Amino acid sequence: GQCSAHCPVGAIYERDDTKSLLNAIRDPEMHVAVQIAPAVRVALGEAFGLEPGEITTGKIYAALRRLGVDAVFDTNFAADLTIMEEGTEFVERLTTGGELPLITSCCPSWVDYMEKYYDDMIPNFSTAKSPMMMQGVLTKTYYADQKKLGRERIFSAAIMPCTSKKYEITRDVNMFASGSQDVDCVLTTRELARLLKQSGIDFLSLPDEEADSPIGAYTGAGTIFGATGGVMEAALRTAYNLVTGEEHKGITFEAVRGMDGIRSAEIAINGKSIRVAIAHGIANVRDLLEEIKQAKAEGKEPPYHFIEVMACRGGCIAGGGQPYGTQDDVREKRIAGIYQDDEKQTMRCSHQNPFIQEVYKNFLEKPCSKKSHDLLHTHYTSRPLYTK
Ligand code: SF4
Repeated sequence: GQCSAHCPVGAIYERDDTKSLLNAIRDPEMHVAVQIAPAVRVALGEAFGLEPGEITTGKIYAALRRLGVDAVFDTNFAADLTIMEEGTEFVERLTTGGELPLITSCCPSWVDYMEKYYDDMIPNFSTAKSPMMMQGVLTKTYYADQKKLGRERIFSAAIMPCTSKKYEITRDVNMFASGSQDVDCVLTTRELARLLKQSGIDFLSLPDEEADSPIGAYTGAGTIFGATGGVMEAALRTAYNLVTGEEHKGITFEAVRGMDGIRSAEIAINGKSIRVAIAHGIANVRDLLEEIKQAKAEGKEPPYHFIEVMACRGGCIAGGGQPYGTQDDVREKRIAGIYQDDEKQTMRCSHQNPFIQEVYKNFLEKPCSKKSHDLLHTHYTSRPLYTK
């Protein structure tokens, strides 16, 4: 994901999708809905002179509306939904002897890498789609129905910290679960910054606005997806509730945070010790997977129950679509911004999000239902590289 953005001689640029968004905005027939990823809100401000990590969520919503967008949604909402699906999948596997470890699949660079180099691990992959894809399909189904708009009239765009997300939207047939392309185009944080400047929008003087209902509001668990360890922590907050029926007293799981390339922790849930691991940066991912394969080859128990994997060092806050010049000091500031955003939220766990509860009640029935599987889950294919 990072190579095109970090081409040392500047000869390769990511595909620019700005025109496709602008064309949809200019088309009076189209209803344009845009979602923004967790990591965008702690980095976009840098293009306007703010420090890395400063949270500008409300201004980004406002800026999108100034561009002429009809509905502003937040990928964090769907991150909460991903947790409901993936958390349920995890608890099911844990209690029924399913394939473990469960490995997260919301990073498309990692999905691509796994399908090419570790296809024997396909059964370990969570079938839950990434938050971006879940948000896209809900926009074209649940939201379109509520608005009484034909699905063909909705244009769904996503602002992402990531160049690989441009590939993910047409990854396979599951990305067309609404009947057409669920996410029509992806702009990176850099592309949005450029577009705002070209449009003469005075970003820093914009008021803070709110996301649109009913698929915009998010909890602290949704926002921490942007940092390494965040998906794991969000999943643990909800898995704890799914297993025990109670809320985890401390809310946070500090043991899974930090910048070490591979981290592991043991978490007690209902007297059972859950072993989790986190890897970020592909070299670290490889080491962790080799450890798991080795244990399997020796007939041992899997060393972990649940694994989070992100291709980029630090997670999506340092994705290939973020402002240039991401070094570790910048990573740390953006990560601090993400955890601040979590602390600011009155609700910190995905299962507490009333709008998520409403989607299940009105539309999806329950996590991992037949409808959820049809719309929110995917499958993976072995795509080994051709070698002579
Ligand atoms: Fe994209 Fe990097 Fe995040 Fe993966 S970790 S989804 S490649 S930004």
